[in-house]
Amino acid sequence: MTNTANCKYIKFFLIPLFLLACCLGGCRRQDPAAQISDVGFYFDTVVELRLNGTNDHALIDACFEKMAQYESLLSRTREGSDVWKINHSAGEPVEVSDDTAALIALAQKYYELSDGAFDITVAPYVTIWNFPDNPGEVPADASIAAARIHVGLSLLHLDGNTVTLDDPRASIDLGGIAKGYIADRLKEYLVGEGIESGYINLGGNMLTIGTKPGDVPWNIGIRRPFGEASDTITAVKVDDRSVVTSGTYERYFEKNGTIYHHILDPASGYPVWNGLASVTILSDSSAEGDALSTSCFVLGLTRGMELVESLDQVEALFITDDQELHFSSGFPKTSS
Ligand code: ADP
Ligand code: MG
Repeated sequence: MTNTANCKYIKFFLIPLFLLACCLGGCRRQDPAAQISDVGFYFDTVVELRLNGTNDHALIDACFEKMAQYESLLSRTREGSDVWKINHSAGEPVEVSDDTAALIALAQKYYELSDGAFDITVAPYVTIWNFPDNPGEVPADASIAAARIHVGLSLLHLDGNTVTLDDPRASIDLGGIAKGYIADRLKEYLVGEGIESGYINLGGNMLTIGTKPGDVPWNIGIRRPFGEASDTITAVKVDDRSVVTSGTYERYFEKNGTIYHHILDPASGYPVWNGLASVTILSDSSAEGDALSTSCFVLGLTRGMELVESLDQVEALFITDDQELHFSSGFPKTSS
């Protein structure tokens, strides 16, 4: 064929084919009244997806499939996951996926930003405390003290996709950041598929897509600490943003009047007792919100609030044990 004939071939066959493909990809989701949702169980928690403007349940199935893949990559306890390989590397370098490397790089960033309050090498403590399966046994001080020398992010090195833990008894746990990162990736996928409205709820970590139909903002309830799951202490209106909460009441047991919970002080190995019951972060990125909610909880009201105020496009609500609400300066408070 000559060049001119080639051009004609492209015009008459490929362009209509391209338009047809676009229409099949996009048009099937152009039903403004349609709405689908579903729930699943991943990352040890209930997850929920809501998509507006589509009837295409394959999109939700694809998200669940992605969640299963992330779980098999990032779980600390699942044999063969990237995290499991790092934790069983006996000091040898380990090659990990792009996602795992990206998450570890983010964790390093928030370690720096939080002055060490956010530290994924708390895993030896996480193993000892064993939430949520611990029936109420406070670990011996000696076992926590013995773990302390194996904790510290300076033990971990990331070079491209290669991870090395200097200390064979050191280990990592991505539970404080992974759900936020995964929610961001799912949102990217759904937006790429033409979804303009919906939300991704990973165990209470909410990431909204656009607004509700009719340009109405999402109204996200914030749980009353230790209240029923449906009991909200306040609500926040957001569009296209993440709302993530870290709270003592999520995973804990009570012994002799003390609440032992799952947010741990990297310096001591014990739950953080600083008068906070929860920290909620509003941000564009859910990975950022997840890392910051855990970081700010560990930092406490004063230092945590200072960190939030120093960041652009990030707002926070700190709730103290006495159920007082402390808002950052730009928090969109509800009027009612
Ligand atoms: P969740 O939303 O699952 O309740 P959070 O975002 O509140 O999780 O983070 C708590 C989890 O993070 C713990 O269950 C543990 O796996 C991990 N973790 C606990 N303390 C820290 C810390 N100081 N730094 C980083 N990760 C932590
Ligand atoms: Mg977190």
